[in-house]
Parts: sequence; structure tokens; C-alpha cells
Amino acid sequence: VIIHSLACARGHCFEGWFASSEACERQSVEGLLVCPTCASPDVRKLPAAPYVRGAREERALPAATMDEKLRRQVRAALRRLILENTEDVGRRFPQVARRIHRGEEEVRDIRGEVTSDEALELLEEGVEAIALPSDLVFPEKAH
Ligand SMILES: [Zn+2]
Repeated sequence: VIIHSLACARGHCFEGWFASSEACERQSVEGLLVCPTCASPDVRKLPAAPYVRGAREERALPAATMDEKLRRQVRAALRRLILENTEDVGRRFPQVARRIHRGEEEVRDIRGEVTSDEALELLEEGVEAIALPSDLVFPEKAH
């Protein structure tokens, strides 16, 4: 078993377990490698040299691969869930999220856009929010 250190375009790092280096290349070319955190298919190998683990640990499963059809189904279901259950407040997200957090507006689930600075500020203020790939949140950006 060969373990490659991988990272997606959003900077999530993870390990992929492969039968061989060729298996890793093949899955990468076929788009079967996805980030386990955000499901991004834009995954690259980190420059660190691959290393091999002994037979005793070979029961570990490939963590970074997911069937392509399943991946699409999961993303479609997730997108539907988000779009049907949240209110789009667009760029007003930080303000609206703060007002809900302070009890100044009706409690509800919202979606919108923030800069990374704004996301950090909300986090520091204890406002509950999670980051998602934009094509899950904005249908017009879906592909
Ligand atoms: Zn990711």
C-alpha cells in the first residue's frame, strides 16, 4: 500500500491509500479522487515522497476515493437540502447572521456570501456558520 499526501484546491489536506502509484495516477486522471472534506475533485498530490506501510496495516481502506455516481448523488441531495431550507441573503450574510445571533431577527437558516475576513470575524464572535463549496449554495454557479 502506498500512501500519498493530497490536498484539494481549498487547502484541505488528507491521505490517499493506493494499491500502487499507478493506481493513484489513474484515479486522479479519471476524476475519482475527491476531497473527503468538501468533495472537490480538484485534488493534487503534495510533493512529499510516497511511503509504504507494512502488511499489518494494509486493512486500511482508500479514504480519498468515492464512486463518481455516488458523489454526484450526494452533492445533488445536499444542494437540494440547502436551497430548499435556507433563505438566500447574498452579500448581507454577515449582517443578517449577526442580527439573528443577537436575537434581533427571527431565527432561521440562511445562506450567502462572505469574504474570508468576514468568515473569521463571525467565527470569533461565536456566530454559527459553515463554509460550503459555492456550487452547493448558489444554483446558478452549479455545473
Ligand atoms: Zn477540500
